[in-house]
Amino acid sequence: MRTETPTTVRLEDYRPSDHLIDRVELDVHLDPHDTRVTATLALRPNPAGRAGAPLVLDGDDLTLLALELDGQALAPDAVRADASGLTLHRPPQRPFTLRIETRLDPTANTRLMGLYRSNGVYCTQCEADGFRRITYFLDRPDVLSVYTTRIEAQREAAPILLGNGNPVEAGAVPGTDRHYAVWHDPLPKPAYLFALVGGRLDRVAKPFTTMEGRAVEIAVYVEPGKADRAAYALDAVERSMAWDETAFGRAYDLDVFNVVAVSDFNMGAMENKGLNIFNDKYVLASPETATDGDYAAIEAIIAHEYFHNWSGNRVTCRDWFQLCLKEGLTVFRDQEFSSDMRSRAVHRIAEVRNLRARQFPEDAGPLAHPVRPKQYAEINNFYTATVYEKGAEIVRMLRTLIGETAFRAGMDRYFADNDGTAATVEDFLDAFAAVTGRDLSRFAEWYERPGTPRVAVSGTYDPAARTYRLAFRQTRPGAGADAPPLVIPIGLGLVGPDGPLDGPCAERVEDGVFVLETAEDAVTFENVAAEPVPSLFCAFSAPVRVESTLDDDARLILLRHDPDSFNRWEAAQRIALGLMTDQVRGETAGDAGADDFVIALGAFLDAEGLRDPAFAAQVLALPSEGDLADEIGTEIDPDAISSARRHLRRRLGTGLRDRLLSLRAALAEPEGTPFSPDAAAAGRRALRNAALDLIAAADPEAGTVLAQAQIARATNMTDRLAGLATLALLPGEAREAALSAFAERYASEPLVLDKWFAIQAMIPEDGTVARIRRLQGHPAFAHTNPNRVRSLVGSFSLANPTQFNRADGAGYALVAETVLALDGTNPQVAARLMTAFGPWRRLEPVRRAAAETALRRIAATPGLSRDVTDIGTRSLAG
Ligand SMILES: [Zn+2]
Repeated sequence: MRTETPTTVRLEDYRPSDHLIDRVELDVHLDPHDTRVTATLALRPNPAGRAGAPLVLDGDDLTLLALELDGQALAPDAVRADASGLTLHRPPQRPFTLRIETRLDPTANTRLMGLYRSNGVYCTQCEADGFRRITYFLDRPDVLSVYTTRIEAQREAAPILLGNGNPVEAGAVPGTDRHYAVWHDPLPKPAYLFALVGGRLDRVAKPFTTMEGRAVEIAVYVEPGKADRAAYALDAVERSMAWDETAFGRAYDLDVFNVVAVSDFNMGAMENKGLNIFNDKYVLASPETATDGDYAAIEAIIAHEYFHNWSGNRVTCRDWFQLCLKEGLTVFRDQEFSSDMRSRAVHRIAEVRNLRARQFPEDAGPLAHPVRPKQYAEINNFYTATVYEKGAEIVRMLRTLIGETAFRAGMDRYFADNDGTAATVEDFLDAFAAVTGRDLSRFAEWYERPGTPRVAVSGTYDPAARTYRLAFRQTRPGAGADAPPLVIPIGLGLVGPDGPLDGPCAERVEDGVFVLETAEDAVTFENVAAEPVPSLFCAFSAPVRVESTLDDDARLILLRHDPDSFNRWEAAQRIALGLMTDQVRGETAGDAGADDFVIALGAFLDAEGLRDPAFAAQVLALPSEGDLADEIGTEIDPDAISSARRHLRRRLGTGLRDRLLSLRAALAEPEGTPFSPDAAAAGRRALRNAALDLIAAADPEAGTVLAQAQIARATNMTDRLAGLATLALLPGEAREAALSAFAERYASEPLVLDKWFAIQAMIPEDGTVARIRRLQGHPAFAHTNPNRVRSLVGSFSLANPTQFNRADGAGYALVAETVLALDGTNPQVAARLMTAFGPWRRLEPVRRAAAETALRRIAATPGLSRDVTDIGTRSLAG
């Protein structure tokens, strides 16, 4: 077993490895319980390390069978080996070879780290530190080696054998029922990018020729019988390869690119070199089983993992503190890809919704950390929204600051200077400093401290001088009193009552961007004919909270006329947030405001409903209960928030009813239209379903009839599920009948039943905790499968604020029990589930006490994993 004593790893303690491993030869004999791994490692002292240092190889849960140095067995006093590591006290001061034979049990590996079996398929997950569960190794990202892997298995059980790199050789093992395959990866890589797969799988493939003329075979492997659901993923790989050539000049570098879908997977997917392994949720899609959201997620995640081939694999991270170097950058790259494939404006809104829903609360709670953390006890707990999403926002700001041309030149320089190495955030910024001649050291502060910055903005118009002055003041809550000001790019525009103003100009506003570099600053626009409304942080130019003095009349002008689509959406969101927070605080003055809002939305729908349905659907979707909680910030009462949101939905549904009905009719696909997952068709479905949701909120009877009819006629999962989601909010017979029918229809479809679990977990009613306990006993539910757990318990804790935060603590107790039940088998998923308690200190006192009780109960349980101990300690600290 591995040591569960939390030890803190610090960035400042980094030093290079004392040894390097140039070449790795693995011979893996797959067996359900008795897999044998022989590793032959070509080692040498690292000139940058300490001369004469012992060789300390990482191990986790390993059984050592044999060990030889340069072909000789080692004297017992020369080596210390146990399940958690192997130490050679006096390794040779010259290149040498270690041959290590270990035994492991893939079937018993419920952590899903290292080598394990998923539905009978052998697969691996090595990031961050799973390779040490396969063999003893220098399991750190700055040790790069060339791998040759021979995989052997029973042919019947595993006809497909895949490794990293290119296939070299394959054949039968004479005199046995076994066969083998040899794979060679010519490009040096860290152990976390190692992968192998063995199993019975169906394959779809297509050829691709790179801009360098290399012929590549792209293949997607899925469970037998599901090949027809792999076409979209295969197509997404092809589009990703082409896009990375055009957008970043990056070509693929092996002869094959393989994607394998498995059903038991802790994360979304993994970018192993040439052999990406995916949670099947992010590969399998058919109109009957996948929603438009699923298609978009598959496209984005396929792209993300493929783009890692350069940002992560060819240039990897020196240490895990640099995780954002590969993740933030690659999220930015996949966001740009999706924006090019779909509507840029709509995608930007989705990105910001996600950032605000996940990263802002993280940054305001006990689990806040810098984008580049300075220390960790368990690295698996740092695959966070802050590292990924805020990390991507930093890259985006960098591009805004230096411009697209310089950004592309800087990226080229970064890849050229660091190819084949393990890099740092400093190396990344150095490339952009080199091509622009700019000092980016102050910009680098974005990586260093936690907390979401606030920027207060106020505008003053001088009619005599025809000037408009915008004053900015930045503060950094959570970053520490001595935190220096950040470099913040602020996209700016001025809008008048009839449209955008083109005449005004201001010094220090270039291409519509002003850069705030000090705690306070101001910019003055000249030649302003009438008092304008400022459009601030256009396209969300920085991940900050904006405090402006705009009133709703000004926001209505932005909703109508702002050329920046993001800020049109933002204007509607801010108005809705204001109306709902007034309601929560018992200030009913908002009622007249609500009428104005309904009128404005009506006009907006008349103008945009049919022109850009995807965008209109975003504008109609009110801020979530989580957004509202985040806005209110302290003494949060989820019931009051839920009721305020319900109230506003009812008002919109009542006031817009006729328009919503006619939009639904106008946007309906003519019968017989073949399904297409493209952005335009998805946008029409999104608006129809947003309309259904509001109609039902105002008129449950009409909503029930419409939702039932929609389910009965649905030709795709998006419409069917939207109908079911609408019914799920309307208690009664119709709901239960629809839920039963859905379960029956998809009884053999685990990924679809996940949607069914999630919809029920999100029902905001008192009976939901009991319903979830019942569903935990459903034959399709399994605690060992992370997708099932996330669908049922994860959806409950993250997307059912009133029931998770029940004042009697029953919601917290349910999640705490699940965390404890899971911790023994899969600590990584248990710890992830526990992060739902993050915002507990911001709740009103009764719920705060109940949440604390549940957290303390988890923390006081003996024998906890390092993963859960770490989240518990940090959640309760301070
Ligand atoms: Zn990634």
